[in-house]
Amino acid sequence: MEKRNIPISLPHTGEEEWLATKEPIMSGWLTAGPKVREFEEIFAKRHGVKHAMAVTSATTALHLALVALNIQSGDEVIVPAFTWISTANVVIYCGAKVVFVDVDRTTFNIDVNDLKKKITSKTKAIIPVHLFGLCADMDAVKKVAGNIPLVEDGACAAGAGYKGNAAGSLGTIGCFSFHPRKSVTTGEGGMITTNDDKLAELISSLRNHGASISEEQRHHGAKPYILPDFNILGYNYRMTDLQASVGIVQLKKLDLFIDEREKWAKFYDEALKDIAWLRTPVVGSDYKHGWQSYVIYIDESKAPISRNDMMEKLQQMGVSTRPGTHAPHMLNYYAEKYNLKPDDFPGAKDCNNYSMSIPLFNKMTKEDYDYVVYCLKSI
Ligand SMILES: *Cc1c(COP(=O)(O)O)cnc(C)c1O
Repeated sequence: MEKRNIPISLPHTGEEEWLATKEPIMSGWLTAGPKVREFEEIFAKRHGVKHAMAVTSATTALHLALVALNIQSGDEVIVPAFTWISTANVVIYCGAKVVFVDVDRTTFNIDVNDLKKKITSKTKAIIPVHLFGLCADMDAVKKVAGNIPLVEDGACAAGAGYKGNAAGSLGTIGCFSFHPRKSVTTGEGGMITTNDDKLAELISSLRNHGASISEEQRHHGAKPYILPDFNILGYNYRMTDLQASVGIVQLKKLDLFIDEREKWAKFYDEALKDIAWLRTPVVGSDYKHGWQSYVIYIDESKAPISRNDMMEKLQQMGVSTRPGTHAPHMLNYYAEKYNLKPDDFPGAKDCNNYSMSIPLFNKMTKEDYDYVVYCLKSI
């Protein structure tokens, strides 16, 4: 086959997104205003929640979720040991302790048996991650968690589902990302979802310096001499209307994007099923995968070469791959801070070393998919 060059991912943006930015640019309302509100309404509706609040990233979404839950020094927050580093970092921002829990090698998600062992009287929140767009087994998590609040890290899971309900509606608070590596993008951006009116009010204020009223309210009809009051310490984590105008266009295509990704995920499942040294993603019948990434697991005991050599070889052939994500307990900051060894979380360590994300994104062509399969088979 002729050589092709296939990146790991490309955002699917174009003229429609570009044109959508015209309105805020021409009107001069650039920061959080009517476009952000519209984006939030569409997002809330799609994910079956009462409230959706746009912020600057999933990282700041997770941070605000923990602040709103009053997480502070002396508290423990449970985080899976195979996830993007910011799932853990936000706990440190609050001065609390990260307690890692191992993950299941099959789903890459939180291992509920290990979770049971990690809960203490100091556990004030649990952050189940819906990794690569596959929801964590939230019913099992809830059973173990009891009354402990659950913050869904749904950074990869816009549009994903579990037992008929959308990600973001499954816990106390849900957090999403619109980084270009995710299914729908606003450049940078995030969303917080909840059905709790009090938490929603608090989070809305926290993202806007702790102000008692929004910028929009302040500019429309308020007394000119009144600045908002500030009763709490907040942050500037506001999304801009420029970003939201792109997000509105993207969100309307979310289900089309997922349908197409699902079709190609099934193509990979079928095309790769005879390769004995790799395992394709496992999706239970209760789950609707969001397919942010297609991540395979390499069985090095059967593979002709190691995963890393394989990734290099694929790169030479023009196919980009990445490890699924990393195991934060193996990264210097956490290894040193908590004196952690790779084998403390053997599932996460294996996922760190043997997972491999292969290209799956909406701009790929049939020829691209065929080529990826050809290259894997040639190994
Ligand atoms: C991408 C990602 C994040 C961070 O999202 P940002 O919007 O870049 O801050 C957090 N958690 C997981 C699981 C992610 O994949």
